[in-house]
Amino acid sequence: MKKSLWQKDIDKNKYKILNKNVSTDVLIIGGGITGLTTAYNLIGNNHSVVILEADRFLCGATCKSTGKLTYLQDLKYQDIYNVYDFNTAKLYYEAQKDAIKLVKKIIKENNIHCDFSRSDSITYTTKKEEIPKFDKERKMLDKLGVKYYTTYTTTDFKNDDIKDLIMVKNTYVFNPVKYLKGILDVLKKHNNFELYEKSRVCKIKKEADYYIAYANDCEIKTKKIVVSCHYPFFTIPGFIPFKTYIEKSYINATEVSKTKSYNAITSNYPVISFRYHKDNDNCYFIYLNNSSKLCDKLNYKRNYDECLNAAKLITGKTPNYVWTNMDVMTNDFIPLIGKVSDDEKNVFIATGYNTWGMTNGTIAGKILADLVNCKKNKYINVFNPSRNINAKNIKNLISNTLFSNVKAYTFNLIKKNPTWYKNKARVIKSNGKRVGIYIDNEKNNHVVSNICPHLKCFLTFNEVDKTWDCPCHGSRFDIDGNVIKGPSCYNIKIDEPKI
Ligand SMILES: Cc1cc2nc3c(=O)[nH]c(=O)nc-3n(C[C@H](O)[C@H](O)[C@H](O)COP(=O)(O)OP(=O)(O)OC[C@H]3O[C@@H](n4cnc5c(N)ncnc54)[C@H](O)[C@@H]3O)c2cc1C
Repeated sequence: MKKSLWQKDIDKNKYKILNKNVSTDVLIIGGGITGLTTAYNLIGNNHSVVILEADRFLCGATCKSTGKLTYLQDLKYQDIYNVYDFNTAKLYYEAQKDAIKLVKKIIKENNIHCDFSRSDSITYTTKKEEIPKFDKERKMLDKLGVKYYTTYTTTDFKNDDIKDLIMVKNTYVFNPVKYLKGILDVLKKHNNFELYEKSRVCKIKKEADYYIAYANDCEIKTKKIVVSCHYPFFTIPGFIPFKTYIEKSYINATEVSKTKSYNAITSNYPVISFRYHKDNDNCYFIYLNNSSKLCDKLNYKRNYDECLNAAKLITGKTPNYVWTNMDVMTNDFIPLIGKVSDDEKNVFIATGYNTWGMTNGTIAGKILADLVNCKKNKYINVFNPSRNINAKNIKNLISNTLFSNVKAYTFNLIKKNPTWYKNKARVIKSNGKRVGIYIDNEKNNHVVSNICPHLKCFLTFNEVDKTWDCPCHGSRFDIDGNVIKGPSCYNIKIDEPKI
């Protein structure tokens, strides 16, 4: 898979791979911003903690984000208000502010060099019909007591194109890989923390008063489990696939001569989001476009080329990095953080950050650590994953979650071999089963099952990364059928292909 700009700073040191049974007080599954912040908040509590990462550390969604830390998140506060009420929107706002404070504290306490810098945040629109929404968001910000501005002077915008904007100060950007690496370095110093990578958890079994989790054919006995793997690999409990949908985007980073201290996002689809970044040697313009639901835009090569060309148009240069990222979206605009279900008191999840995971993953790290420690936290109710679906978000659930899955499933059912990858890969029926075949440059066939083990969606071939991708829930597999990204935790290898 294509690496992000941040992943050039990846830790060359490898971590241990789990190869023995272990016993621990707390098991954290997944080493992104959520898992590592949870672990950080457990320091000093005398728990033994095991962190299992399926891939290498610093390879997940966090390390492919645009690294903005902001409480101005498109037009989020009215979205939440429309589903719930002002108090809920206020708690969400306070959680974002607390998260930014916590990141600042972690950076300061541990002297983490992660290019953390102030960057004004802007939400803007190029569509006249969006103006009433901006008026409404301003009213929300007034009630929240947020100081905002309605103009911004920069040569990046053609002023005529911008129909409305909101800008706030005291927001930040950072390099998420350097930040997580800083936290990993802190955790490594504590003997009661054990970190393993290339250790994908594929099952959890409940025993009397403890759990057994399974990874690499080893057992992990634990009292409490934090499932911070972006998208839980199990469906029950929690029913996450029925409460969420996935959005993906293409991002590029191009070297430019200087940086600017603001970041921006459009309020309307297709989303455009950008920021600047300066590290030791270079300045970059980071630009995200082509954002869509996972079930849309399945021609990955075209999306990639469009992203590349968009950067060339703006900067006049070929980007140095182009990569893709996905995030889990909720239908009521609020993440799912807390006890996985009312019956499971010691299994906690965090997902559904709606593309704002730097703040939400951070606050999740605090909430989950408090839950592990049986401490109170004022955000437990607002993020409760078992909250009821109300009449106002049922419409979103039907149009986003249900429709997305049906669309993705039907597309691949009807259009087994779309023109754009027919010469490289194809899907056929063999002995009544759907198999995917990729033909490499040496004319070798790589044959795999075409059905995702997670929830049985049909897989689409991704010509850019040479992977088989699930258009329903985002699992990804290499051409030989090894799972490289969940929620699936199983491969799609076929023992004896008959083609
Ligand atoms: C295009 C794009 C841009 C974004 N930009 C921003 C931004 O600027 N600011 C912002 O706030 N948010 C942004 N986000 C959102 C943000 O990237 C995510 O919400 C956040 O990174 C999720 O963090 P996480 O810890 O849940 O997941 P991850 O960072 O993905 O961590 C989860 C880890 O769990 C591991 N794992 C998975 N399954 C298992 C298993 N079974 N066993 C063990 N380990 C497992 C994975 O390998 C992974 O390393 C963006 C999202 C997208 C799509």
